[in-house]
Amino acid sequence: MSSFIEFENVTFAYSAGEEEKTANVLENFSLSIEKGEFVAILGHNGSGKSTVAKLCNGIEVPQTGKVLVDGIDTADEERIFDIRRKVGMVFQNPDNQLVATIVEDDVAFGPENLGVDPAEIRVRVDNALKSVGMFDFRLFEPHKLSGGQKQRVAIAGILAMEPECIIFDESTAMLDPKGRQEVMETAKAFHKKGMTIVFITHFMDEAVQAERVIAMDRGRIILDGTPKEVFSERDVLKKAKLDVPEISKLAKTLKIDGFAIDENALTVEELTSGIISALQS
Ligand code: ADP
Repeated sequence: MSSFIEFENVTFAYSAGEEEKTANVLENFSLSIEKGEFVAILGHNGSGKSTVAKLCNGIEVPQTGKVLVDGIDTADEERIFDIRRKVGMVFQNPDNQLVATIVEDDVAFGPENLGVDPAEIRVRVDNALKSVGMFDFRLFEPHKLSGGQKQRVAIAGILAMEPECIIFDESTAMLDPKGRQEVMETAKAFHKKGMTIVFITHFMDEAVQAERVIAMDRGRIILDGTPKEVFSERDVLKKAKLDVPEISKLAKTLKIDGFAIDENALTVEELTSGIISALQS
């Protein structure tokens, strides 16, 4: 059995007109994501994260190598709708994703395009809005919502297509801290229900919340492991212009100051329990 998303020795370059050839963004790139995983892809601007996202649902296809989604080759044009149905994408700018003038019409747009029966659409729209906590806003005009609320409506639109996987492509980048947390909590809730989540971000404190973190630099995977494993590699991260979460920085400062605590603590809970036991010993 292959993984849910499988990149096999992928090479990819964006085309720049007839004659020109741009540099490869990805070269011999391999990656497996299993069904039900919650993976964060972390990387500095331009490291290739969005390109990976676009390859995951056939928006782009590799020049060499293969991308398989649930065993389907994304280069198989006849199966593109099957792939888009399985893998939904939430993008960065909520304003570019909302097309209708009423929230519930917006959420219905995806399933309408898939030819879903109208009665079934009604049920899906209501359920999707409820599951992102936006049902009470179903008759609102999207432009009256906050950034976080708009992103939740965009997520509902994806959910109404009943995907098996959602890719969040820097979906929190334009939001305030509250909006970012709303989107993260929504992603976590769907993961709990068994959905595969790929969360692309350049925020360390978001990546920490995933089960697996993949750090990218210049089109390559430089680290792949649990948040604990990845964020203990401070030097490797630094070379890729990446940092560790704020909590880990604080833990390191305390350690330097003489506290006997784990300098790689990732959460407030870990840090406070470390401080308490250091004080008691
Ligand atoms: P990230 O999501 O990590 O910021 P991207 O995947 O967007 O990285 O970009 C990787 C590289 O591909 C960058 O060098 C970027 O300039 C280039 N790139 C991205 N999109 C395009 C495009 N549509 N045409 C040409 N080059 C692109």
